[in-house]
Amino acid sequence: MTKIFDEDMSAAFGTRAIHAGQRPDPLSGAIMTPIYQTSTYVQEALGVNKGYEYARGKNPTREALERNIASLENARYGFAFSSGMGCLDSIMKLFKSGDHFVVGENVYGGTYRLFDKILRNYGMTFTYVDTRDPQLIADACTSATAAVIVETPTNPLMRLTDIRAAADVAHTHKALLIIDNTFASPYFQQPFSLGADIVWHSSTKYLNGHSDMIGGIALVNDDDIAARLQFILNASGAVPGPMDAWLVLRGTKTLHLRMERHDSNGRTIATWLANRMGESNVFYPGLESHPQHALAVKQMTGFGGMISIETGSRERAASMLERVRVFSLAESLGGVESLINQPAGMTHASVEPARRAELGITEGLIRLSCGVEDVGDLIADLEQSL
Ligand SMILES: *Cc1c(COP(=O)(O)O)cnc(C)c1O
Repeated sequence: MTKIFDEDMSAAFGTRAIHAGQRPDPLSGAIMTPIYQTSTYVQEALGVNKGYEYARGKNPTREALERNIASLENARYGFAFSSGMGCLDSIMKLFKSGDHFVVGENVYGGTYRLFDKILRNYGMTFTYVDTRDPQLIADACTSATAAVIVETPTNPLMRLTDIRAAADVAHTHKALLIIDNTFASPYFQQPFSLGADIVWHSSTKYLNGHSDMIGGIALVNDDDIAARLQFILNASGAVPGPMDAWLVLRGTKTLHLRMERHDSNGRTIATWLANRMGESNVFYPGLESHPQHALAVKQMTGFGGMISIETGSRERAASMLERVRVFSLAESLGGVESLINQPAGMTHASVEPARRAELGITEGLIRLSCGVEDVGDLIADLEQSL
């Protein structure tokens, strides 16, 4: 169970991003945490060891990552997993058959697929609601509700949930609030300060930021939940390898710098797109025309680089995707390079067409992950592709 070093909570965000959870290597003084590429640890005698027995349970590189992100999220415990979905799957093992969950209707396609195609078979039940309205969350809660599961902002429509209001509703019903904080990152949104009980990420995205690994991480404050999650992590075994843990740890050292640039590029591009295509066709919480801009300003300190646009038809979307030169046509997001995709055919292909239509994920919708390139080149690329 990886608990953060107490002193790692005191410095400001950028300093913690670089230093929290890490100590110079005791053997050599190496400033970078070594990649402990090992499956097992030699024990001194029967029952005498250095706290490490087998690497599924504990690995020092992984522990440094867990402490680092826990510090950035202002949580006490971190648990790293082999993917975002592996992380959520392990979180859901905290619950049992018969438990009910109220889930945002616009969550990541893979989250919906895990719930609808797998966990439903194990007797868990899910009600999907528009969590923009906390009253709809309350209306869906029953005496069996064990957790409210929210992603904010959502992928790809950039809809927001009031985390404080959702926490109040969940806690009134003795349920936990679980937040997917992948899109905002801890740099722009701190769900624990707004009442969340479990925060998780696909670390594949902004936390790593360099598009070179797949990973997930869960953060918690409660001792009992932490102990159970540690048990699940070891028992179910969806752990990341030390190299992948190290890559995220390398990534978080520049998280604050990257997020500032994603945000300034995102704001500039969203404003340009709103002028070019009309405000109603651009979905970005940083725009004053976004219906939840006031909430965005209240619970986030920046808006990042994720923007969706409605081009009007599949043909227009396809022609734009073919013409881009700086943006790359690919799934995923949150890396230093700009990506573009069509959610209906790519990231949200696992959501049934009828459900996609209900949610507003049209064939003409395009999602941009604005990277940290020079913004003039990104705008010129979008201009020529439109
Ligand atoms: C990518 C993503 C996930 C899934 O994470 P993986 O690392 O791909 O397993 C979950 N939630 C959001 C918001 C994501 O963008």
